[in-house]
Amino acid sequence: MTEKTVNDEMREREVIVVGAGPNGLAAAVEMARAGCRVTILEAAGTIGGGTRTMELTLPGFRHDVCSAIHPLAVSSPFFNQLPLGDFGLRWIHPAAPLAHPFDDGTAAMLERDVAVTAGTLDREDAGAYHHLFSPLVAGWGELAPDILRPVAGVPKHPVLLGRFGLNAIRPAEGLARDVFKGSRARALFAGLSAHSFLPLGKPGSAAFGLVLGILGHAAGWPLAAGGSAAISRALADYLVSLGGTIRTGSRVTSVNDLPGGAVIILDVTPQQLLEIAGSRFDDRYRRRLAAYRYGPGIFKVDWALAGPIPWRARECARSATVHLGGTLEEIASSEREIWEGKHPVRPFVLLAQQSLFDPGRAPEGKHTGWAYCHVPNGSTFDMTERIEAQVERFAPGFRELILARHVRNTAGYQEYNRNFIGGDINGGVQDLRQIIARPVAGPRPYATPDPGIFICSSSTPPGGGVHGMCGYLAAHCALGGH
Ligand SMILES: Cc1cc2nc3c(=O)[nH]c(=O)nc-3n(C[C@H](O)[C@H](O)[C@H](O)COP(=O)(O)OP(=O)(O)OC[C@H]3O[C@@H](n4cnc5c(N)ncnc54)[C@H](O)[C@@H]3O)c2cc1C
Repeated sequence: MTEKTVNDEMREREVIVVGAGPNGLAAAVEMARAGCRVTILEAAGTIGGGTRTMELTLPGFRHDVCSAIHPLAVSSPFFNQLPLGDFGLRWIHPAAPLAHPFDDGTAAMLERDVAVTAGTLDREDAGAYHHLFSPLVAGWGELAPDILRPVAGVPKHPVLLGRFGLNAIRPAEGLARDVFKGSRARALFAGLSAHSFLPLGKPGSAAFGLVLGILGHAAGWPLAAGGSAAISRALADYLVSLGGTIRTGSRVTSVNDLPGGAVIILDVTPQQLLEIAGSRFDDRYRRRLAAYRYGPGIFKVDWALAGPIPWRARECARSATVHLGGTLEEIASSEREIWEGKHPVRPFVLLAQQSLFDPGRAPEGKHTGWAYCHVPNGSTFDMTERIEAQVERFAPGFRELILARHVRNTAGYQEYNRNFIGGDINGGVQDLRQIIARPVAGPRPYATPDPGIFICSSSTPPGGGVHGMCGYLAAHCALGGH
C-alpha cells in the first residue's frame, strides 16, 4: 500500500486522542490538519495537563500549576508552524533567560548574548564558554530537528550533531570540570543540567545543560502571557477551529470502551497504557512497557507575595527563572542524594517569578513565586521549609513577604494528573538508555503492536517538557509517515 493510500484510509477513520496535555493537543491538531475527524477525551475538568494556570493561593494570584518557563515551546518546530498567536498565545521574554546567584551576593547570568553571559563568569572561563556554546547556538536551526525526534532517525546534519553528541553523552559534572576552571561557569552548567533529574555524574546529563544553554541564547526562556494555560488554550481553540471536539471530565479506563475502528492516540505513560490498552498487546510488548522506569518526583511551593523577591544579587530580577543551589558541588550532591532515596537539606531549587514580567498574574504591587525541588519518587516528605531556606539564603527578607502558600508533594501531583507517576513530571527517567528506548526501542516508538493504537506523551521521543513534538511525531506515525 502506498503512503498516500494509508493516509487517505486514515482520514476516513475517527481519531480519538486520550488526554489533553500539550502532546495530546498537538497530536489532535496534527491529525485534524491532515483532515481527520478528531475527538479528545480528557479525564480532568479542564484541558492542559501540565500547562494549567490557577488561583492556588489567594484571589487575584494566578499560579502556573506545572510548567512555567518555555524555552522548548518557543523553539518547537511544530508549534512554530501553527497560528497560535491568532488564538491568544503571546510570549514574554525577560531581559535575561536565567539567573544563578551565589553566596557572595553576585550572580552568573545566562543572557541572550553568549559574550555577555561569559562576562558574568570567571574571567578565565570566558573563552571556554564561547567555544562550547557559540557553534551550537549558531547551528541550532539545523540541530533542532535532529535532536527533537527519535534518536533512531538518520541525522540531517551529522557533523553538527556529532559535535553536540560528543559532549552531550558525557556526565555534566565531568564536562563542567574539564571545560571550565572557575566555580561560576561550573555552577551555571550544573544548574542547567540538573533539569535532567539525573545524578550529574551520570552519562547523558550534560545533554540537558547543553540544550537549555543553547536555547537560552538562540530562543530565550519566555513565559506565556497570562499563564501557561494560554498555550493549551491556543492549541485547543485552534483544534476546534479545524473541526475537532474536546470532551473534559471523560476518563478513559479501557480502549475497549471506545468506538471500534477508531484510531486511538494516548497521551499517557507506559504504566497507564498497560492498564488502558494492555489487553490489545502481546506479552513481549507488555513486558517491555512494564520494565519502563520512572524517575524522581518533585515537591512544589507557590507563594502569594507582598512584594518582589529581595534578591541580594539585584540582577536576579532581570530573569523570570532563578536557580538556587550555589556551587556545582552542592547541586551535584543534592541531585545524587535524591537517587539514594534521601531529601537534601539544601535542595537545588528551580524558581520562577512570573509576575515581575507579567503583571496580570497578581494584584497591583503584589507578586507570585513558583518553586520546586527534586525528591525521591513517591516521597511525601514536606520540603517547604528547606525550599524557603534556599530562597532566604539568596534573598534575605523573603519569608516576611509571604502572604499565602500552596504546596504539593508527589502524591498530590499524581492525584492531580495521573501521568505524573510518583511525582515524575517527565513521563519517565531520561537517561541515555531511556532516551533511546522511549517507551521501547525501535524505529516507530509511537506505534504499539495494535495498528490502531499509538502513544504520544512525554514518555516518547523527544521526552519531557512543553513542545508538542511527541504529539506531532505520534500523529505522523499514525498517518503512516514514520
Ligand atoms: C511542577 C512542574 C513544573 C514543570 N515545569 C516545566 C517548565 O517550566 N517548562 C516545561 O517545558 N515543562 C515543564 N514541566 C513539564 C511539562 O508540564 C510536561 O513535560 C508536559 O506537560 C508533558 O505533556 P504531555 O502532554 O505528555 O502530558 P500531560 O501534560 O501530563 O498531559 C496528560 C493529560 O492526559 C490526561 N489523562 C491521563 N490519563 C487519562 C485517561 N485515562 N483518560 C483521559 N485523560 C487522561 C491527564 O489528565 C492530562 O491532562 C513541568 C511539570 C510540572 C509538574
